[in-house]
Parts: sequence; structure tokens; C-alpha cells
Amino acid sequence: MRFPLHITTDMIKHQIRHGLKGNTRYPFVLMLEPLYTCNLACLGCSVERHTGRIEDRLTLDECLQAADDSGAPVVSLCGGEPTIYPELKGLVEGIIARKRHIYLCTNGLLLDRTVYGVVAPHNRMTINIHLDGLKQTHDQVCDREGVFEKAIEMIREGKRLGYRITTNTTIFKETDLDEVEVLCRLLREHRVDGMLLSPGYQYASVESDFFLAREEIHQKFQRVLDLSKQYRLTSTPMFLEFAAGMREYPCSPWSTVTYTPQGWRGPCYLIGEKYYRTFEEFWQSVDWDYWESRQDPRCYNCKMHSGFEASVVRGLRNSPKDMLRMAIWNFLE
Ligand code: SF4
Repeated sequence: MRFPLHITTDMIKHQIRHGLKGNTRYPFVLMLEPLYTCNLACLGCSVERHTGRIEDRLTLDECLQAADDSGAPVVSLCGGEPTIYPELKGLVEGIIARKRHIYLCTNGLLLDRTVYGVVAPHNRMTINIHLDGLKQTHDQVCDREGVFEKAIEMIREGKRLGYRITTNTTIFKETDLDEVEVLCRLLREHRVDGMLLSPGYQYASVESDFFLAREEIHQKFQRVLDLSKQYRLTSTPMFLEFAAGMREYPCSPWSTVTYTPQGWRGPCYLIGEKYYRTFEEFWQSVDWDYWESRQDPRCYNCKMHSGFEASVVRGLRNSPKDMLRMAIWNFLE
């Protein structure tokens, strides 16, 4: 199975529950940024994340309230670097007590100090380690020597201790897909439970030509589609075809909602046009019709899974063929 059965069944139950209420838009994933502080300053990350000031941190109660308010079955702990968050253990336990699933998104540097032996392995928690290439590339992206080797060491140790481990690789304009294939092979040897290869996005706040324009995304993801036949990628086949320019979807920005020390980010994970104090205010204020339509210039090059994987799920009801492919992909491959 691609994902553990309980994640799949929880997601299906979530959709049925909302379907019975007649809701067509609802969050699937909460991107929770407990703090902006990070122990790295990677290329392509917006600089305002590295302030390290105490007011750039959410309290544990605020984090758990956000999980309650969004109702999303999956909570992705990101940031900043969540393994720096002092109340991480309480946060993980609080989210698990709410019967949600956690993706702990980390650069891996502190796993042996703040997670392994501190937060017990649980079938509701996946550790998702960032790796943008092999040693030279990843250390260059992270702007620090040794980050790649530490991440690999932490993957090995995490698997030994019984944690569920996945990886997340951003495909940049400069990314060499031959190198990505070698990385996938290495990660398979380390028995990772899944690999996410996602297109980079041109953040308004990042002045860099690292990120991919639409045609370049299509070319790179044609190759990723080939890789998906050999390696355990976690993106759905329809999403990869979308990223490769072979099909179109509207966006579903409401499917992935983001809570940060500044409040609820709207309209989407990528665009922080405005921050809202309460979930209700955020949910009612964002013009979802406008952002679904992708008519905003900032949406033109966007192929982010956070906006489109839910669109894939929405599209299944119109295509029995896609539904069958999805079932085979999840349950049998
Ligand atoms: S297309 Fe991308 S940038 Fe635009 S709303 Fe969707 S996720 Fe956000």
C-alpha cells in the first residue's frame, strides 16, 4: 500500500462526512508553522523566516486550537524548523490525541536531539525529511556543509527506531533529474516509506531564478513520471500528469490551510496576501472562486501539490477510469 490504511480510510471518512453536510470546500491538510525560526537559511526560502524572535512562535494552545478549528485530518508541522519548537512533544501528542495524522517536515539536523527517544514512533506520525539532491547539491541549497550526510544518517537511524520516514525533494530549474534518480535509488536502499518530488514555486518574496516556469516544469515532470514507475513516489499519477502538462485542473487552495505566528495565511500556502486572526474570518473572507480559477498572475506558473492534489481527488467522481487508477496506485502498487 502506498499510504497506511488508516490514513486512507480517515481521508475517505472525512470526505463522506463533509459530503453528507453538502460541503464542497473543506481543508484536508493544515500546514502548521509553530515558529519561523530555523537553523538553516536555504536558498529559495524567504528571509523573513529567520528572525528568531520569540514573538515569531505560536503557543502550544494556539497550535492545537488551529488543529481543532481547521478540522483537517492531516497536520503538517513545518515552519521554520519544527524540531526547534520547545513544546514539540506536547504538540505531537495533542494532535495524535485528536486522531489526526502528522507529517513532521524537517531538515533532519536535530532529529537525534529533539525527536528520537523523545517523541515515540506512532502510526499517526510520519517524519518527512527535506533532501534537494545528493551531497553537493543539497549542501549548496542549504548553504551549509554536512546537511546531506546528517539527513541520510537520520533516515537510517529513524528507520532503525521504527519511525515512518518519507522525503521531500523540490525540483528547481537547475535540478538534474539524473541526480534525482540516483537520490531515489539511494533512498529506496534506505527503505524510506515514500518520496515526494514537488515543483518549486516563484515566491513573491524570493528574488531568485531558481524556481521553475511552467514549460520547464512540464519537461522536468515528464521525467518524474518515468521515475514514478520505478520508485515509491507519493504524488498521485494524475497530479504528476498535471505537473507534466498532460492534463488541467482548477486549484483547490482551501484544501491546504496554513496557520502561522502571524495568523491564518490567505489565500493559500504560497501566497500570503493577508493574514487573518481567526479561522472563521479567513474562511469567509478569501474569494475562493477567484483563486480556484487560477486567473491571478501569481498562479500562472504554480503546480504545487498543496493546491492541486485535492483537485485530483475532486476530479475522480467524473472519471471512473481515474478512480480505478487511483485505487490500484494506492492499494496495489
Ligand atoms: S494556483 Fe498556486 S498560487 Fe494560485 S491559489 Fe492555487 S496554490 Fe495558490
